[in-house]
Amino acid sequence: MNFAFAPHPTVAAPVLGGAPFPVHRIYCVGRNYVEHAKEMGFSGREPPFFFLKPADALVCVGPDATGSIDYPRLTAEFHHEVELVVAIGKGGADIVEADAAQHVFGYAVGLDMTRRDRQTEMKKAGRPWCIGKAFDQSAPLGLIAPVATTGALTAGAITLSVNGQERQRGDLRELIWNVAEIIVHLSRAWTLQPGDLIYTGTPAGVGAVVRGDLMRAHIEGLPPLQVAVH
Ligand code: MN
Repeated sequence: MNFAFAPHPTVAAPVLGGAPFPVHRIYCVGRNYVEHAKEMGFSGREPPFFFLKPADALVCVGPDATGSIDYPRLTAEFHHEVELVVAIGKGGADIVEADAAQHVFGYAVGLDMTRRDRQTEMKKAGRPWCIGKAFDQSAPLGLIAPVATTGALTAGAITLSVNGQERQRGDLRELIWNVAEIIVHLSRAWTLQPGDLIYTGTPAGVGAVVRGDLMRAHIEGLPPLQVAVH
């Protein structure tokens, strides 16, 4: 087909021991760990809610590499959020909990980078969060490990350090809504497609990074993710 201009290529996320994962959409879950919900001023007992990032906000980083992101414009409060990312291999709508596992292709470590000042401002005004969450390079992602190699991830430490100092620590057991429940809720609102990624929420300890900082994100059983801020 002749397009008016060259179309953007499909974003390809590297997969451990296999062909790359063609990314469709990036869904994110808000406030999915009790201690983080509390630090954001909430009780931690509300139903899950979702927002999206564009697929081309991804910055894919191999396990032996250090990724690089630019400090974004329009913020003085650039926050890290380490998250378990679920890669969807089989689509569907109204998926039931017993079937949810069949839709998981694999898992990765991700960072839901946030312009916290812009997000806070928009929340207060009752406006959409896009400028705070869905900007360029806002979704660093580590290597995707196929579920065949990891098994279902339901427990394990999730941590983030900045310049060698630990900032965030939690355990996947502390997810308010687990991976199967997230798939159930999401697939009621959107038809999930192969290629979708789900950032499942962050534990407590979110905070700011500045130019020159090095973030190291880790989840037990997954390839680590290292990203520098320039
Ligand atoms: Mn998040």
